[in-house]
Amino acid sequence: MDKVGAGVTTFRKGDHVLISCITACGRCEYCRRGMYSHCTTGGWILGNRIDGTQAEYVRIPHADTSLYPIPAGADEEALQDYERTFAAQNKIDTFATFAKR
Ligand SMILES: [Zn+2]
Repeated sequence: MDKVGAGVTTFRKGDHVLISCITACGRCEYCRRGMYSHCTTGGWILGNRIDGTQAEYVRIPHADTSLYPIPAGADEEALQDYERTFAAQNKIDTFATFAKR
């Protein structure tokens, strides 16, 4: 992560994370029911209602509940291969991508 907003408490600059294609506030009724794609202030907004993730930098709303930490020492190249394989097998463009290192 290159920058962290003032409201973000879970992550710090320099963290490596996976970005879900679905952002979720974690507080609305839909999020509390586990229906994150229906989040009233999130859901499928990346590349739909706001800029997507195919850029050098991307802003992720609701970062605390929409990003997933990559453990130190994880093989990030393997994670990217997994993403591409999953996407190809499921005929989707992408389900996650990496923040800029
Ligand atoms: Zn929500």
